[in-house]
Amino acid sequence: MSEIEGLARKTVFSINPYIPGKPIEEVEREYGITSVIKMASNENPLGPSPLALQALKDSIDTVHIYPDGNCYYLKQELAANLGCTEDQLIIGNGSDEVLKLLAETFLNPGDEIIFAQPTFSEYEFVCRVMDAIPVAVPVTGDFGHDLRAMADRISDRTKIIFICNPNNPTGNIVTGDDLDAFLAKVPERVLVVIDEAYHEYATDPAYPDSLAYVKKGIKLISLRTFAKIYGLAGLRIGYGISSPEIIALINRVKEPFNVNCLAQIAARAALHDFEHLRRSRELVAAGISFLYEAFDRLGLKYVRTQANFVFVDIGVDSRKIFPVLLKEGVIVRTGDIFGLPNYIRVTIGTADQNLRFIQTLERILKLG
Ligand SMILES: *Cc1c(COP(=O)(O)O)cnc(C)c1O
Repeated sequence: MSEIEGLARKTVFSINPYIPGKPIEEVEREYGITSVIKMASNENPLGPSPLALQALKDSIDTVHIYPDGNCYYLKQELAANLGCTEDQLIIGNGSDEVLKLLAETFLNPGDEIIFAQPTFSEYEFVCRVMDAIPVAVPVTGDFGHDLRAMADRISDRTKIIFICNPNNPTGNIVTGDDLDAFLAKVPERVLVVIDEAYHEYATDPAYPDSLAYVKKGIKLISLRTFAKIYGLAGLRIGYGISSPEIIALINRVKEPFNVNCLAQIAARAALHDFEHLRRSRELVAAGISFLYEAFDRLGLKYVRTQANFVFVDIGVDSRKIFPVLLKEGVIVRTGDIFGLPNYIRVTIGTADQNLRFIQTLERILKLG
């Protein structure tokens, strides 16, 4: 260990760096190709809402002014939209930031957090930053959250339980009935966070609306984002909904100007772009049908999704296939980062992108 490394908190060395989806520019540079498609980070292939784009253009000349640290207008519009009050909302620089704020507000060293394995890696990350202890509970055989096992792992030290619904990387959901039964077993002193980054895509009638629990006064925090269906991933804006007491605590550790002014403006416009939402949902529904049919034809098993990505078993180590897909200009996520190397997670693209992905995958698998 170098002298400088000796200065760092020990915790820093327990943190595995986040592995992002490979950027398009990087693949084009490395392979000397063009028209690369990214189906790796669950972004919206339709792009941002046109209303958001117009609002951005109209306000670009205000960036010399600090943003409203309280996100007053966005909170007002979100509250009306969600049927809650402004003091029940925390807006973050992405829902990633809200996760970190939650950890900074509530986690003492040695506290335990519980989450599914596999799931979104940020829960473990924010936990480790705070010297808390991650408790990962493997999913069931059909890739569902094992809520019974998760309830069994609650100890005196448990502080937060994370449920990703629909789950990333598998796309499947925890149903309302299962969530009810689970919440009945969670002690009052434990916080439950329901991460609903893909909420707007879910169509299964059994999918629970976590806001209904917040409104009933259950101690729970719902997380949503403008990064996925709203197509604003690059601007970084997401939010949490909970009781005014919990939100007031989180506000104590928040940076004063955490959400930039353009993100606030774009989010407000996107929130009212129902046409863009409708088109995005339709595109994803059609893409899911297309991919299911193709995977069935190729004899590949997959998890049925309620989000805008599919987790599919390609029958061989995806780390071998990944560079070949890259060379052909198709970026996906390999399953090894989720502990399932024979899987890939592919984001639903446009019809052209889905076709190109399937044709490329089919050619590679036949050659292999
Ligand atoms: C993408 C994603 C997020 C992060 O969203 P940002 O608002 O971009 O920070 C949070 N949770 C899950 C499960 C995600 O997949």
